[in-house]
Amino acid sequence: MQDSPASELPSEGPIPDWWRHWWRRQTPTRQDRYAMLAPLAAVLLFLAAIVSAFWYLRLEEMDREQEAVKRDVEYAQQRMRLRLLERQEQLMRIARDISNKEVDAEEFIVRAESMIAQYPELLMLTWIDERRKITASYAAPSLHSNQIRASGEVLRPGETETMYSLARDLQQPVYSQPAAGPDSSGLLQLHVPLADQGKFGGVILGEYSIDGLLRYGVPAEISAKYAVALLDGKNRVLAGTSVPPRNPAGQLLPWASQPNDYEVPVSPVGNGLIVRAQAYRTGLGVIGSGLFWLVGALSAMTAWMLIANWRHTRRRMQAQQALMAETNFRRAMENSMLTGMRALDMHGRITYVNAAFCQMTQWSEAELVGRTPPFPYWPEEDRDLLMARLEDELKGRTIQGGFQVRVKRKDGTLFDARLYVSRLVDAKGNQTGWMTSMTDITEPTRIREQLQASHERFTTVLEALDASVSVAPLGSEELLFANKLYRLWFGGRAGGHLQMVATAGMSQPRPNDESLDHVDHFVGLPTNTLTSAGSENAEIFVPELGKWLEVRSRYLNWVDGRLAQMVIATDITARRTAEELAAAQAERAQSASRLITMGEMASSVAHELNQPLTAITNYCNGLVSRIKSKQISEDDVLAALDKTARQAQRAGQIIQRIRTFVKRSEPNRTLSDINVMVTEALELAEIELRRRNVRLSHYVAARLPHLMVDPILIEQVLVNLLRNAAEAIEQAGRPAGRRSVEMRVVPKQIDEQAVVEFSVLDSGQGLAPEVMERLYEAFFSTKAEGMGIGLNLCRTIVESHQGRMQAENIYNGSEVAGCRFSFWIPVSGATNPIVGKDAGVTIT
Ligand code: ADP
Repeated sequence: MQDSPASELPSEGPIPDWWRHWWRRQTPTRQDRYAMLAPLAAVLLFLAAIVSAFWYLRLEEMDREQEAVKRDVEYAQQRMRLRLLERQEQLMRIARDISNKEVDAEEFIVRAESMIAQYPELLMLTWIDERRKITASYAAPSLHSNQIRASGEVLRPGETETMYSLARDLQQPVYSQPAAGPDSSGLLQLHVPLADQGKFGGVILGEYSIDGLLRYGVPAEISAKYAVALLDGKNRVLAGTSVPPRNPAGQLLPWASQPNDYEVPVSPVGNGLIVRAQAYRTGLGVIGSGLFWLVGALSAMTAWMLIANWRHTRRRMQAQQALMAETNFRRAMENSMLTGMRALDMHGRITYVNAAFCQMTQWSEAELVGRTPPFPYWPEEDRDLLMARLEDELKGRTIQGGFQVRVKRKDGTLFDARLYVSRLVDAKGNQTGWMTSMTDITEPTRIREQLQASHERFTTVLEALDASVSVAPLGSEELLFANKLYRLWFGGRAGGHLQMVATAGMSQPRPNDESLDHVDHFVGLPTNTLTSAGSENAEIFVPELGKWLEVRSRYLNWVDGRLAQMVIATDITARRTAEELAAAQAERAQSASRLITMGEMASSVAHELNQPLTAITNYCNGLVSRIKSKQISEDDVLAALDKTARQAQRAGQIIQRIRTFVKRSEPNRTLSDINVMVTEALELAEIELRRRNVRLSHYVAARLPHLMVDPILIEQVLVNLLRNAAEAIEQAGRPAGRRSVEMRVVPKQIDEQAVVEFSVLDSGQGLAPEVMERLYEAFFSTKAEGMGIGLNLCRTIVESHQGRMQAENIYNGSEVAGCRFSFWIPVSGATNPIVGKDAGVTIT
């Protein structure tokens, strides 16, 4: 039988290796199952062993009993046989004596009487002669009178006839085959033949009581032990007792399955008389079966208890596993928790700390648990404060929302922590102490401080900014942010912000504005201002402040997610003033330059004026003399006056032209006709050119567009260039045939832009490289009386009209044959204020 599993056994004891290996290979569930099944199997095997032992013993006993019955029956049969044979001997002796005539009828009676008295089973002795006539008969006194045979009677035919004839024929003693009668008074007859000198001389009939035979033939100890009976040839009871057949249920039991009896024919009689002994049911069966049932019941109970125990254990195991899983989960949770936990009992003693608490304070659990205040993680300087806090805590005065303390680590460093205290309540609802959770807030504190510092820096910068910064949400009068300068200028309200936005034309977009159709997915906001980082720019004048402000605005997502507009306004009043000053100076410089030009041209102009004035004088003198001599007709006077008037008109024209040219005027751009500008410039320049004997030719392309320019300034440029050309020719000392200047005005395309190009080509000495380098420098001149500001001003004027100016030499082979100055003005140019650059500075 297998014993308990190896794991439950101490390691001592001879457990084979293979068994141990096999056992270890099994899964724990299987091990459990085997551990439970093995005792059950043991109980069942035990039960089986008990049953088979009972069976075996019972069989053994039955064998023995069978043997005993057999022996006893044999013995009883022997005894009966002996008894019958003895009687038979005695009868045969009597028969012999009768044959020898030693015994007569009387003697026979005497002998019979003594025999019957001696042997109670013998009921009657009868002497029957050869003619079946009773010679003598003696019956036991107990016998009923009608059974007694009287001497001299002849036997009724049929009565014992078969046996009688058989004894006569065989000459041998013959026993009758008894049959069971209605009562138990069965008789066994013995016919002993008589020989009368060699002849048959009748029989001696001895009749036995079968009952008596049984009673006296079977030893008392046997009849006490068994139910002994004598049966006839057909198994019917002749005498004795018989055990009734057993309960059929009893037959099923092994020890009761075979009735224990034995029968054997009683020898001299033969098969007609059988002795049978049946063993009484012994007490053993009862005891055996009781024991059997007891063992069975105990085994069943053990098995049932084992199974119940097994199921109970299984439930316990399941509960244990669930408990373990729960414990593991709680432990893992506890260990992975980042919040430190500490439990105090009602007296302030630490009863529990978790891993996070130990990690934070660097004190181990063993060092903390069981400690009473002051705790080792209290900084010395805070001890009194913390003690007071703890007392409050223990008295239940907890602070809602926790409180902040400093905690000292084991290495002496400090950190900030926030503690929350709550009541610790056990499963029965009784308070057992206080639970404190601790969070390290060093990092949040540091971050908060950093944030605060950065906020302070940010505000300081914004406040110190010499620009006003304001943020307001779209479509609201709320002011989200305003820096110091804004508050100084506009106060704490959004009015200034909105005014700036409105004045600068940055009014907040309306979603239903048609021009903003394409921006729908930006919820009605202009895509350019949102998607590009660029901001709108405008310069506005704020009368309330008396300041010029440069206003920049951009959209931004405010911290609460609202879309807001930020406006940054910079005070540009100083710049604006400087610019205006510079523009005025430039203007002054231009008119001064024109005056200078005229001054330089003074002698030419005087010469030019001299002619009409001389002609007027001559006409007047001629008229006076002819009127004095009265030699003049009215027509002649009219003709002369007409001529005089024309000359005066011409002089006036020249003066008017010069006046227009030098008149100081505000810069005034208008759509100007190029032809007019060119004609007026040529008229002025011609005075100078004619004096220098320089031929002027010009070509103006047809259908030129009007230009958005200040015509006086363009004329000034042209006059300057034509004068420079004439002076160059003069300086070069060109012969009469090569003294020519050509002016061309043609349309052109430069950088895919429609422009009008003005060029002046001369036949002078050209530009030396060093001159070319410094051409536009103010006060650079190669001429003795030159001022050197002409070209500088020309370039400024051209560039203020978004044009460009350039100069190049004209070559005739390798020889310089003159130079060409040209500039172009775009056809549609944006208007820019004309700002003097170097010139503005130079003139003042
Ligand atoms: P200014 O005429 O008073 O000298 P400008 O600024 O008009 O001053 O000219 C600067 C210099 O450029 C002149 O002194 C001259 O040397 C040179 N220059 C100007 N125009 C021409 C020209 N058409 N040919 C050769 N040199 C010239």
